[in-house]
Amino acid sequence: MSTTDPSLSVAVVGAGWAGLAAAVTAAAGGARVTVFEAAREAGGRARALDVPGPTGPLRLDNGQHILIGAYTEALTLMAQVGLDPRRELLALPLGLPHVDGTGLQTPGWASRWPAPAALLAAVLAGTRGWTWADRAGLLRVSLRWLRQGFACAPHQSVADVSAGLPARAMDELVAPLCVSALNVPPEQASGAVFLRVLRDALLGPGHGGWAASQLLLPRTDLGALWPDAALRWLGDAAPVPAEVHRGARVLTVERQAEGWTLTVADPDGTRPARFDRVVWATGPTVAAAALAEVNPGWATTCGHLQHTAITTVYLHAAGQRLPSPMLALRSAPAQFVFDRGWLRPDDAQAQGVLAFVISASQGERDALQQAVLVQARDELGLQPRTLTPLQTVTEKRATFACTPGVQRPPMTVAPGLWAAGDYTEGPYPATLEAAVRSGVAAAQAALGR
Ligand SMILES: Cc1cc2nc3c(=O)[nH]c(=O)nc-3n(C[C@H](O)[C@H](O)[C@H](O)COP(=O)(O)OP(=O)(O)OC[C@H]3O[C@@H](n4cnc5c(N)ncnc54)[C@H](O)[C@@H]3O)c2cc1C
Repeated sequence: MSTTDPSLSVAVVGAGWAGLAAAVTAAAGGARVTVFEAAREAGGRARALDVPGPTGPLRLDNGQHILIGAYTEALTLMAQVGLDPRRELLALPLGLPHVDGTGLQTPGWASRWPAPAALLAAVLAGTRGWTWADRAGLLRVSLRWLRQGFACAPHQSVADVSAGLPARAMDELVAPLCVSALNVPPEQASGAVFLRVLRDALLGPGHGGWAASQLLLPRTDLGALWPDAALRWLGDAAPVPAEVHRGARVLTVERQAEGWTLTVADPDGTRPARFDRVVWATGPTVAAAALAEVNPGWATTCGHLQHTAITTVYLHAAGQRLPSPMLALRSAPAQFVFDRGWLRPDDAQAQGVLAFVISASQGERDALQQAVLVQARDELGLQPRTLTPLQTVTEKRATFACTPGVQRPPMTVAPGLWAAGDYTEGPYPATLEAAVRSGVAAAQAALGR
């Protein structure tokens, strides 16, 4: 069957970032695409959220997200559906500044340098409070990683590969990067995946003139950042307009002599739908249950993945602005705080909205919110009377636990059926880029490429 033959029907199950990347790629390749999404809103684990604000409704996200310049596939696909990543994202040089001005920061004069040179400048000139022994220790370990090609044995943890690193470099650089990228602490995190991310961020290409290591903060809500534009493109600009069914849950998938039959439940009832090819783009728990009969071995690998949580505590700090859009925190439980007022300077509603991110979060929602209020007072010096909790969101299965040697299921489930999602086999931890890459790869396989 020709890849531009519009009679090739492809079902995409799930409209998270992976599913929508698959849908856009398959539709761009000429297939007749149908998307089924169980929720009313697309976006999955990276979606917009409406909450009541102090002066009216606020559009927040289910969790503050951050991208980097090395997310080349996600950024390319955004451009493909008509977004301008430079308008949608605020680019910052690599840095993890604290509220008191200490912490790693790339000096302004080096902010446009290529990533390795910028990092060297940051280590030598942008680490206020570090001793020369701290700086030399970080450079020594970085050179070791470079000599070893940013690779290590699969059983090694981030703590193992960081042996010899001064405590300050571990606490202020490697541990925060590790927990934010892999969502597990260094002792439990895969050294191989961490080094791979580091290699791509330091030595890989960046998108559209950005350095790979630059931090990119969404200026819009996560719905506007990708799903809304992808859905618009699928409906209006795809070579064959795609069908998108929201509130439509796929219950089962059954192999036919040719193609697959899905059982779809929506408010009108339950019905079968036949397709030549299927990209299954739900999270791993749903995928393991739904695909157990199609490929029991695949489903077992998928079902063995462990998950870790992320909690985002949104506070309104009336009349306050942090010294920069993003700060690293020394105390617990949040590791980072983002000031959404910086990201949307023209939006009065966004002023004073702070997002505290607790990666690898444990404990109950109310206790975490309370602890963050204390952290805001003690570490950031914010007056308690100015602070109002807006919303606290815990995503219990935010990411799979990226531990040493973790087995991830491959993309191919059966002939004509592929899985897409941030958890499938690949070089990256559970991130937007991993989701998009897997979606693009699964769609290309479905197109026969
Ligand atoms: C709080 C939080 C913070 C994060 N921060 C970052 C970050 O800073 N940077 C970063 O890169 N990544 C971050 N991530 C990870 C990132 O959000 C995920 O890697 C990514 O969104 C996963 O996308 P996905 O498409 O693979 O899966 P999902 O987003 O889980 O999409 C699966 C979709 O399938 C749908 N679905 C489920 N069952 C069915 C069914 N039976 N039928 C039809 N549809 C179904 C779901 O409703 C969902 O829309 C964060 C995640 C969370 C939760």
